[in-house]
Amino acid sequence: MMRHELYLENSYVSELETVIENINEFGVKLKNTIFYPRGGGQPEDKGVLIIQDEIYEVLEIKKFSDGVYLKINEFESLSVGDTCIQKIDWVYRYKLMKHHTVLHILSAVVWDEFKAKVTGGNIYEDKARLDFDMEMLDNEIAEEMVRRVNTIISQNHRIDVTFENRDKLKEDSDLIRTVVNLIPESVEIIRIVKIGDVDIQADGGLHVKNTSEIGKVKLIKKENKGKGRKRISVGIIL
Ligand SMILES: [Zn+2]
Repeated sequence: MMRHELYLENSYVSELETVIENINEFGVKLKNTIFYPRGGGQPEDKGVLIIQDEIYEVLEIKKFSDGVYLKINEFESLSVGDTCIQKIDWVYRYKLMKHHTVLHILSAVVWDEFKAKVTGGNIYEDKARLDFDMEMLDNEIAEEMVRRVNTIISQNHRIDVTFENRDKLKEDSDLIRTVVNLIPESVEIIRIVKIGDVDIQADGGLHVKNTSEIGKVKLIKKENKGKGRKRISVGIIL
């Protein structure tokens, strides 16, 4: 069975036919959606729906308690059960996926060297940044961290996305336990993103399948945004 939030199990579906499952005051809910709503520093997708030969631009994406709804113009005339073809802007999304994976690698590299926690972050089409709780960050350190990120990228690590039961995860390694404890007790099934033997996180974001897809990254800048916020911005070299 395909999940309603299809992107969580397969981030590579860029076009999919489905049906309208519900309509609320905000917009339409699709049976299976490939549109990612904003979350975890990753911006929402762009794209269109094609319903009865009409093209509707997706204006906004919002998660409600019963699922993801897409805001489009004049949806009042549509009905539950209508067939709908969804198309996301794949060029844009794929760049976000690459940068998301890059940030996980960067967080692993900085943790490995400084045991510094991530205190913030954001992903864009052309760059991504993370803030770290660390004492000192100069250009030399930032450049070295990016060098290590590039080394890991070049090792062609596989990225695995799995859905695990909270109780099973508790029995696993210390790292996983720490990660899992940050998630509310009410969440029983936890999505795990694992990058080879480099990084493992509970994460709702979208990633590439292999680090070989990323290419190479460069340091864009390092900034001191105050206590506990040493910022590293990186971007994929096109
Ligand atoms: Zn993430």
